[in-house]
Amino acid sequence: MAGSVPGVPSDQNAPACPTCDQPLTGLAMALFKRDDDGERTCRAVWGCALGHVWWQWADRARLPLEPCPRPDLFT
Ligand SMILES: [Zn+2]
Repeated sequence: MAGSVPGVPSDQNAPACPTCDQPLTGLAMALFKRDDDGERTCRAVWGCALGHVWWQWADRARLPLEPCPRPDLFT
């Protein structure tokens, strides 16, 4: 069991993969400028054992996961 890595989302409260229902693991936190409000904020990047990669705004965790368009950056 790996320890927690600074900057990576905690696996506590990790969502399940919307595609295959496998548990998701935090891969990274990535800083982005958000188009709708101009904020520079983090996206939490999640991956499952089958290679699906999702992300969500770290401060909007209640919103649904979105498919990550560049999973190659994080896996
Ligand atoms: Zn999956």
